[in-house]
Amino acid sequence: MQMNQKTIKTAVSIRKFEERDIPDKVRWINDEANNQYLHYELPLEEEKTLVWFRGNQSREDRYDAVIEWAGEPVGVIGLLSIEDGQAEYYITMGEERAKGRGVAKQASLLLLEYAFRGRGLRRVYLYTEVENLAAQRLFERCGFRRVGLAKKSAVNRGRVVDRYLYEISRADFLKRQDMETAPAPILFLEDGPNQIYIKRDDLIPFSFGGNKARKAVLFFREIDAGDYDAVVTYGSSSSNHCRVISNMAAARKLPCYIISPEEASKPTANSRMMELFGAEITVVPVEQVHDTIEQKLQELRKAGRNPYFIAGGGHGNIGTQAYVNCYQEIRDYERETGIYFDYIFFASGTGTTQAGLVCGQLLAGDERRIVGISIARKNPRGRQVVLDSIAEYLAQPKFADEKAQPPYTEEQIQAATIFDDSYTGEGYGQDNKDIRQTIDRMLLCHGIPMDSTYTAKAYAGMQSYLRERGIEGKTVLFLHTGGTPLFFDDLSKGMDAR
Ligand SMILES: *Cc1c(COP(=O)(O)O)cnc(C)c1O
Repeated sequence: MQMNQKTIKTAVSIRKFEERDIPDKVRWINDEANNQYLHYELPLEEEKTLVWFRGNQSREDRYDAVIEWAGEPVGVIGLLSIEDGQAEYYITMGEERAKGRGVAKQASLLLLEYAFRGRGLRRVYLYTEVENLAAQRLFERCGFRRVGLAKKSAVNRGRVVDRYLYEISRADFLKRQDMETAPAPILFLEDGPNQIYIKRDDLIPFSFGGNKARKAVLFFREIDAGDYDAVVTYGSSSSNHCRVISNMAAARKLPCYIISPEEASKPTANSRMMELFGAEITVVPVEQVHDTIEQKLQELRKAGRNPYFIAGGGHGNIGTQAYVNCYQEIRDYERETGIYFDYIFFASGTGTTQAGLVCGQLLAGDERRIVGISIARKNPRGRQVVLDSIAEYLAQPKFADEKAQPPYTEEQIQAATIFDDSYTGEGYGQDNKDIRQTIDRMLLCHGIPMDSTYTAKAYAGMQSYLRERGIEGKTVLFLHTGGTPLFFDDLSKGMDAR
């Protein structure tokens, strides 16, 4: 594929609505492809719209804007009833060619940026018809939360309809934007028989990022929304998961309890940080980890506390969701750039990352090969754990009533789940010459830290996989799942090992 010329993102911007935009607006609103869920008196007329425009132009309690994409107006967006630090948001995408390309999302984020940073608002809300699923997906991807159902609250073409209330707060938006959801960039990495791109989830801003940070953001969204006053999780002294969880807990002044297996407790960069964050670490033989977690939870509850438990590695549906979202980011990138990835490779451990990517693919209904390179587990168990996570995720009630859900069969699930255990070497955390050379080369040539347990092992595995199968001329995405503190552990082992 010769498409790497088009890597420059097509810019989306918003600007104040002007008189010259009236013909566009009238055309968009009257277009049946756009107005199914709009509550306007149709057809909209230019003359009336001009009166509306002149009457509203100088009002401080609303902000009407035009969305521009590649320099052309493609829709309208704005804020209504601006009052008491709050406002109601609206959007209508007008031009067909700008739909389904991430333009609405980018424009919405720009508007929220203006609302919260520019105007200093505290809360933005919206109402959307219960049946308008596409719009709900957009709002959720922008960080809005569904907080209520307003029954029979509007009339659309003579029909009384129910609407959901969605909202987003300034704190949620700014925190999301700044620390917890700045999208991880996709960058061109190297050319060869195949073109290789890298998605730098290691650059997610919080606590050295990585897939554990991406998962933790969603766990803490639940913690923030509830009345929890402690966090309990488990993992070894080298666990990226325990580092991120104890960091996010400390940032919120929540006590964090970590149960850790004695067999893997030698100090690492991660365990030193867990101590710095004030986590209380209980070290027990591995066969006692399960019972010790139970005891800790009971002990806290007896003391009148309300602990939130997170499975090791962020395993479970919330962790899976984090990588469904990541898959969506990859698809957004593809739509914006015209680049299409034939393969996605990454380090697969407990399989949550992989389960999320595969579920993302099944829900999107596209085709490509998603290859998890096992860093330790052998088949059939390794792959079975991924399949179990996929089944658990798709069994959630929210998919049962989602009418727009694309069909997927057991066969598709089986075909989409590729867990390759050929490159595990001597097992978890064990490296070899190939992996050490990958670490050196990545840092030297690209300035990218990789570690021997996860990312360098997976990258070296990916290269062998492609070579052994004679795969050429493909566009490949490697997902960097983080683990930068482990890179420093590798580094401190010294050069002689190389
Ligand atoms: C935990 C981890 C993985 C494996 O993720 P799973 O979702 O458990 O498969 C990969 N890379 C890094 C850096 C990790 O910390």
